[in-house]
Amino acid sequence: MAIDLARARAETPGASQVLHFNNAGAGLMPGPVREAVVAHLDLESRIGGYEAAAGAAEKVERVYDAAAALLNCDRGEIAIVENATRGWDMAFYALPFAAGECILTSEAEYASNYISYLQVARRTGARVEAVPSEATGEMSVAALERMIDKDVKLIAVTHVPTNGGLVNPVAAVGRIARAAGIPYLVDACQSVGQMPVDVAAVGCDMLSTTGRKYLRGPRGTGILYVRRGLAERLEPPFLDLHAATWVARDDYRVRDGARRFENWETNVAAKIGLGVAADYALSWGMEAIYARVRALADSLRAGLAAIPGVSVRDLGRERCGIVSFTAAQKSPRAIKEALGERRINVHVSRAGSTLLDMQARGIAELVRASVHYYNGEDEVGRFCEELARVLKG
Ligand SMILES: *Cc1c(COP(=O)(O)O)cnc(C)c1O
Repeated sequence: MAIDLARARAETPGASQVLHFNNAGAGLMPGPVREAVVAHLDLESRIGGYEAAAGAAEKVERVYDAAAALLNCDRGEIAIVENATRGWDMAFYALPFAAGECILTSEAEYASNYISYLQVARRTGARVEAVPSEATGEMSVAALERMIDKDVKLIAVTHVPTNGGLVNPVAAVGRIARAAGIPYLVDACQSVGQMPVDVAAVGCDMLSTTGRKYLRGPRGTGILYVRRGLAERLEPPFLDLHAATWVARDDYRVRDGARRFENWETNVAAKIGLGVAADYALSWGMEAIYARVRALADSLRAGLAAIPGVSVRDLGRERCGIVSFTAAQKSPRAIKEALGERRINVHVSRAGSTLLDMQARGIAELVRASVHYYNGEDEVGRFCEELARVLKG
């Protein structure tokens, strides 16, 4: 079913305020998400935070069902955390590494993840290796296969990088990880909410994502998936009285399931909003969302390529909703600023966010224009016109 654009825009309060091509930064919240968050905050202010949470227990539990439906897993395999990085860290730092062991990752890896590999490598003597990319930009599955040996203790891949439209072949990687019996961690921050992401089809053991980007949820929310059976074998790096129970003077018991990766205090309103955002995305259908996102992104790339001086920088055979470009006439920062004055939102991706990839391509900064299904074809046209004007002026 095609997306009803008029309804999508009517249900997006910000759509009439700004031309928002920064969905990879934070998507515009749909009305139902905003209303759920505000309603809970209001309840907290009227009757008390603990009392409001008790009354909203069903809504809070619904968040796990919505996240599980979105990722095709069991609700017991879901942890709701403050952001994607916290979820990713809780999984990654629970894994044991020793000298000589190896972490295999992708060249498009996100800075926060890579910094963590380096920290663990320094502490333990393990090493980090980035699997080379193919000429088209995807992580090379053939190279990965050749790099597998008994020392590899983790394969950790970013599905869609923060700085462009590339989509890594996470399911092909999953088949290799499974065959070799190596734990597999996927950073799906930029993919969940814009395309179908099915943890069973991907074949990953752990997957993290954020609430505020393509999922259009509130800021300060994240989801961690940990496969049943694996969670029980991983002791989280931090424990509290939610993740574990203090059972005797010298003993504690860690909670079953993925909630051992959570902690007690949480922004209940935002958490409820995250669940509403996941249900809202599912109500449109992830296939329909992705079909529209790809079509819009392709037409944006075509429009950009026709503007003198503009170079589209996206890699990959399959390109998603993140469109990246540079222009000969102006720096990415100057472009972002000039567009901002026209109420057009984009982001500047800097080399430090995806250092290996940006260094390999000799790019210091690029403009990231990320579209979503509620964006209109007319916005793509207007964006290209305004950009052309900015570059002339
Ligand atoms: C945004 C992003 C993250 C971090 O997500 P947070 O919710 O801000 O922690 C991780 N990986 C990628 C690829 C991202 O784009």
